[in-house]
Amino acid sequence: MALVKVCPNCNRRNAASSVVCEVCDTSLEKTKPIQAPGLAPPRISINNRVLKLPLKLEFVIGRAGEGTIRIPDIDLAPFGGSPAAGVSRKHARLTWNGSWQIQDLGSVNGTFVNQKRLVTNEVLTLPRNAVIQIGKLYLVFHG
Ligand SMILES: [Zn+2]
Repeated sequence: MALVKVCPNCNRRNAASSVVCEVCDTSLEKTKPIQAPGLAPPRISINNRVLKLPLKLEFVIGRAGEGTIRIPDIDLAPFGGSPAAGVSRKHARLTWNGSWQIQDLGSVNGTFVNQKRLVTNEVLTLPRNAVIQIGKLYLVFHG
């Protein structure tokens, strides 16, 4: 369990220390924090290596490359995430909404969860131990 502030406007769960909603900028100053199931970093591994991720509510998965202005939160370039491997610069997004959810960001080669391709704009709640395929790379979501 963790303390979160639920945005009165969009229902987004924000960290208890938030002053404004991450999504819609609504003020959370008068919103009381409540206990909600675990706001913890997602545990994700690539090639059996667990990534060290910060406590955040949203992670963009992609690859940094020449001319990249904003490095994605989860940069797959060091793991072989090249254009040839079918990884887009902004490939998919993980969002905390009481559980971790994933969405494809219109990538060229798509995002697959347990071998099923996500439809554009589909938001899928990740089951434990889900295998996320980004191009030719496989990520394991442990929870
Ligand atoms: Zn909001």
